[in-house]
Amino acid sequence: MTLSLLSHVGRLPDQGILIDGQWRPAADGASWTHTHPATGETIGTFPIATESDVDKAVHAARIAFDEGPWPRSRAGQRVKLLHRYADLLRANADELRRLQALDNGVPLSFAGIYATSVEAAADVFEHHAGWIDKVGGETLPPYQGGDHLAMTFREPIGVVAAILPWNAPFLLYAQKVAPALAAGCTVVLKPSEFATFTVLRMVELLVEAGLPDGVLNVVTGPGNPTGDALVTHPLVDKVSFTGSRAVGRHIIEASAGTLKRVSLELGGKSPTLVFPDAPDVGLAAMTTMGTVTMGLSGQACVAHTRALVHRDVYDDFLNAAQLLAGMITYGDPFDPAVLSSPLINAKQLDRVLGYIERGKDSGARLVAGGSRVDGDLAGGNFVQPTIFADVDNTAELAQEEIFGPVLAVVPFTDEDEAIRLANATEYGLGAGIYTTDNRRAFRVARALRAGTVGINGFQVEPHLPFGGFKQSGLGREGGRSAFEAYTELKTVLMPLTDELM
Ligand code: NAD
Repeated sequence: MTLSLLSHVGRLPDQGILIDGQWRPAADGASWTHTHPATGETIGTFPIATESDVDKAVHAARIAFDEGPWPRSRAGQRVKLLHRYADLLRANADELRRLQALDNGVPLSFAGIYATSVEAAADVFEHHAGWIDKVGGETLPPYQGGDHLAMTFREPIGVVAAILPWNAPFLLYAQKVAPALAAGCTVVLKPSEFATFTVLRMVELLVEAGLPDGVLNVVTGPGNPTGDALVTHPLVDKVSFTGSRAVGRHIIEASAGTLKRVSLELGGKSPTLVFPDAPDVGLAAMTTMGTVTMGLSGQACVAHTRALVHRDVYDDFLNAAQLLAGMITYGDPFDPAVLSSPLINAKQLDRVLGYIERGKDSGARLVAGGSRVDGDLAGGNFVQPTIFADVDNTAELAQEEIFGPVLAVVPFTDEDEAIRLANATEYGLGAGIYTTDNRRAFRVARALRAGTVGINGFQVEPHLPFGGFKQSGLGREGGRSAFEAYTELKTVLMPLTDELM
């Protein structure tokens, strides 16, 4: 029977643009129609913010920053609001998960994965609330001349343009909005056009928590015109972006005119390195293949899409990865037995199928999947879990972020070769190491050029810095460094005697 999700569509947040506390339609009345990736059905519509809407939103954030109470509020006031908000997120988790399933098709079964859960998003708000009364400046001794006081202050950076991708809206919204608000910034938020309803509901809850008008404004719509108008606006001080490398590059160029501060969380081609003394080769294979298939169907920035496997355990690894590939289920994201999602849109479906077809001709060995899921699910963007073995590490399959359920497996012979292969990429987001030799584990972890390295496991947590080396990004989210990234450091000097400084 053909899948339909329309019976799950209840109340959707029905207005997309929030300016100075008022929800409103787009200036020209234009709207985006959201089509579900699992069925092609129309789920709902939201406004496409024009350049003039973006301008109004930025002005509202500017006035709230320059004249409003939030940047000047007492630490305790901000702490309490962010805690209240974390509680509201948890209390509304079921509705948020339902909206996510209607937005991007991520199944409810994935809700137990901590890193992308509503609970993790709530924890991120509490974590950053914790920095508000703890991060300050320093007092420093005079370097030369007379007696004087020298001190530093951490001040909010100003108006932040926060631009989100579609794949993990709970966590990625929190990773930007929480530190920005905690630091005392004001925000213009642009959700992805492919996960808007979830973010709008989270913003409704923020309003309910009591955030003053104008502190967080929302513009909905795609990169053009909405995103472009935001990243080029002269009154924006900082752009905080998570998304593809191509758009990240564009943002650096587009924001250069007014030298905005820019943080970028971009893509990856993260390797797993499996040594012959791995604690459990089968588990390493299942975990690696799990990141490429379960929940997001490989549409995750830190999916470990490149498995570098020692020749002694190569066949064991492939067998276990194939086993997991055969266990993945698709379809109705509201069905608890469904484990994975469709690709987000037709363009991404074509892109992934293109990589698979070229992979088949590349000399690599296709050992699982390799095509679109058909039958009753032919109306959705589903692709089978796919494994290519014997991939050349320089080939497209091992170098490009495919952003789909495709694992490239590359054999290696010794530790030096494994490190060389792992680092031979333009990306540097994550990496996994499987070994029971602790000295090897740390030796390899230190040698890898990646932002987060997991030894016999991998996790993203609110208090840990997360971000990329090389072309995987600029800056870090999570932890103290994320909070500080929404501040400017100011130095203040004052003589204590009549002597000159
Ligand atoms: P995308 O780059 O297509 O879009 C991201 C956001 O940018 C969307 O809101 C989009 O509307 C907006 N955008 C597009 N063009 C723009 C423009 N010209 N100006 C301003 N904004 C513009 O990415 P996506 O498909 O939403 O997400 C997938 C990508 O995100 C992958 O590359 C993935 O690796 C990356 N990602 C990285 C992380 C991380 O933490 N490093 C996390 C999740 C996703």
